[in-house]
Amino acid sequence: MSRNETPHPSCVGICKQYVAKKPFAGGRYEYGQKRCQMCIKFILWEGLWCPCCGYRLRTQTRIGRLKEKFRASVRIS
Ligand SMILES: [Zn+2]
Ligand SMILES: [Zn+2]
Repeated sequence: MSRNETPHPSCVGICKQYVAKKPFAGGRYEYGQKRCQMCIKFILWEGLWCPCCGYRLRTQTRIGRLKEKFRASVRIS
């Protein structure tokens, strides 16, 4: 977390309606929350694209992805 994070100019404020609260336990992604890197927010939104700025949302579904990444990096090196 860096200080003074300001949203991208593409952020028009719609994301505020969809801001996701921090879960009591577990990871945000496990609760279906998605991260918009432009709005710098976690939002609850069904789609893959941010309803606010239109950028692709970041989703992470557990370890499967990490393994894929690991395999890919092994292949490269
Ligand atoms: Zn936004
Ligand atoms: Zn956004």
